[in-house]
Amino acid sequence: MRDELGFGPKRGEASGDDDRPREECGVVGLFEVPDAAQLVYRGLFALQHRGQESAGRAWVQDGDITVDKGMGLVSEVLTTPGPPDARRAIGHVRYSTTGTSSLDNAQPLLMRSRFGPMALAHNGNLTNHAALRRTLEARGAIFQTSSDSEVLAHLVAHGVAQRWLTALEGAAHQLLGGFAYVVLTPSSLVALRDPHGIRPLVVGTRGGGVVVASETAGLDAMGATYLRDVEPGEMLVIDHEGMTTRRPWGPVPAGPTPCAFELVYFSRSDSMSGGQSVHRTRRALGRQLWKEQPADADVVVGVPDSSLPAAMGYAEAAGLPLDFGLVKNRYVGRTFIVPNQDGRTDSVALKLSAVEDVVRDRRVVLVDDSLVRGTTAARLVGLLRRAGAQAVHMRIASPPYTHPCHYGIDTSRSRELAAASLSRPELLERIGADSLGYLSQEGLREALPGRGDWCLACFGAGYPVPVGEEDGEGGEHGDDGVAAPVAGGAPPAQ
Ligand code: SF4
Repeated sequence: MRDELGFGPKRGEASGDDDRPREECGVVGLFEVPDAAQLVYRGLFALQHRGQESAGRAWVQDGDITVDKGMGLVSEVLTTPGPPDARRAIGHVRYSTTGTSSLDNAQPLLMRSRFGPMALAHNGNLTNHAALRRTLEARGAIFQTSSDSEVLAHLVAHGVAQRWLTALEGAAHQLLGGFAYVVLTPSSLVALRDPHGIRPLVVGTRGGGVVVASETAGLDAMGATYLRDVEPGEMLVIDHEGMTTRRPWGPVPAGPTPCAFELVYFSRSDSMSGGQSVHRTRRALGRQLWKEQPADADVVVGVPDSSLPAAMGYAEAAGLPLDFGLVKNRYVGRTFIVPNQDGRTDSVALKLSAVEDVVRDRRVVLVDDSLVRGTTAARLVGLLRRAGAQAVHMRIASPPYTHPCHYGIDTSRSRELAAASLSRPELLERIGADSLGYLSQEGLREALPGRGDWCLACFGAGYPVPVGEEDGEGGEHGDDGVAAPVAGGAPPAQ
């Protein structure tokens, strides 16, 4: 979910404790599941890594929808169990940011139209949201929020279709980008995934009811059994008739391109994606990394926590010991609001420290899953050197991150991406390592599960969905150059 007013944190600012990209939301939904409002808590708790700025849930009771949301972690916001008799609910966590953070933008959003109440929760980014919003506002729409998520609700309300599902289908047809929505009405739950399948969404079952979530870890936490992924371009309608599929975009024009970075970094290691655990994929990334970027070393150290599986794979392939040369302070708060690069650097020292006993007088391979601005890497190399490491060889289990994401991941602008703005020698000098090696694009594809394609746009492989000026470097509110919105437009014939 993107804020209309900015690209994640304000320019030049960062929120949080390091310089990694940030996920922009997680969603869950339940239909005809006992204790649905309470189970949402568990599902969102498992997806907390996808967003820590705000949390919320909506449930159906007595034919109407109630929303409970606020700023903060799930445990801070959802402090009551919710009505025990609610059987239909959705939930949302939103990522941490600065400046544009507000309760107005917390989700689920509740809208009331001629079709009745509708709550929605959204993960991702609509690349044509500004054009859609301009057209809707010209037609009299009054937006409650500054986020792109609300566009879908107004498209439904302003559509010409007489039936709710037809209106939703016509509205979805107009959306471009990488996104997953869950939409709740008193009588139905709809799970919607973009035609390229960029953002993840899975469906499961519990006690005869249906459960959806951004990741299978969310299903697990709600006691649901995984059934399948919501397919790219699928609008899965769950109501008293069961589950039915609609395809607002018609047949998906090209192969799906799910986000590779979900597997590199964002998703939980215990989630399943592409038929295997994310943990297994990350180990494969580490093994592939060693094949391409071996190092003469004594020990392999991973950056906790997300890089540990890749470090394990690297060590396995290299025949080197894996050890815990960095430890994480688990009690550092989730949000340092750090206004500049110096503050960001200091925050790393608060969160991670080196284990001298592991690294002193040894040549260390330091494995991280990604390198974005380079500030974290420089700090970690410094920590290891001060702890007595004889040499530090930095290895990155993904290709150089050279392009910003426009599909719902908060990254820096291009000029802040180290691999885009610095030559390899300059980057090596910035981080202070003895050597630096990345996984190649081909190596990443090789290690990812399945035979399908992936979005690797941030690694310079090209954007699978056109990116307009509004999402590019040219400005925040420029003409997006995509198809003009047609409020009330009908989906293609099935
Ligand atoms: S650009 Fe990168 S982060 Fe964004 S969807 Fe594609 S792979 Fe994921």
